[in-house]
Amino acid sequence: MPLLLALLTMLAAFPAYAADRTIYLTFDDGPLNGTSNILDVLEAQQVPATLFMVGMHAQASAGNKALVRRAKALPLVTVGNHSYSHANNRYQHFYADTEGVVADMLRANAVLGLAPAVHARLPGRDVFRLPSTSKNDTSLGLAQEGREEPDYEFVAASGFYLYGWDHEWVHDDTGKPVQSVDHLVSEIDHLFGYGRFVKRGKMILLMHDEMFQDGFDGKTKLTRLITALKQRGYAFGTIQSYDD
Ligand SMILES: [Zn+2]
Repeated sequence: MPLLLALLTMLAAFPAYAADRTIYLTFDDGPLNGTSNILDVLEAQQVPATLFMVGMHAQASAGNKALVRRAKALPLVTVGNHSYSHANNRYQHFYADTEGVVADMLRANAVLGLAPAVHARLPGRDVFRLPSTSKNDTSLGLAQEGREEPDYEFVAASGFYLYGWDHEWVHDDTGKPVQSVDHLVSEIDHLFGYGRFVKRGKMILLMHDEMFQDGFDGKTKLTRLITALKQRGYAFGTIQSYDD
């Protein structure tokens, strides 16, 4: 192959490769202890991420309000809606009333200063409702799904893009991360090799803000994760490009 053609082929192939392995970092439940460490790391590493925030937490203190303002001011950070009340962790009750769900989500929009169309994640539900992507929470048993499934189309039509997730950096009851960074990276490698994502070549990684507090060495762990993923050639996507 002539040298120039080979070069052009390589150049053409590289973005396709990067675009084929894209990770979407998402952090739920903030602002909480841990949120400022997340923002520090995202700024230092210059990677995009989405923080799905809880309206009630945003109102809890002046410090939390400042964290929302700081997150919204960062160009690579998207602040998303994760409801006002987080269902008060009574999911069955919460999801029995679709209009109540919408009202709670709209209340969070007002508190967080978000205007439609808003990127959102419903509390405790791995559900997608996007223009070209739709998926229900397959972790719910059929009986439970039938009984408490709200009208997700109605929620989405009320001004929300709903995102679930493909993989989770799990935490224990205290909020401490379960997998080591190395273990998580090997899980991600494996999933890109053999797994199936909601959208091909795109992995939404679920994490929670509380995991990154100082007591759990959050800043170091998140930095190590992002550095390792960069070294392995993964791209980091903004949530706005996920459904393309
Ligand atoms: Zn949550």
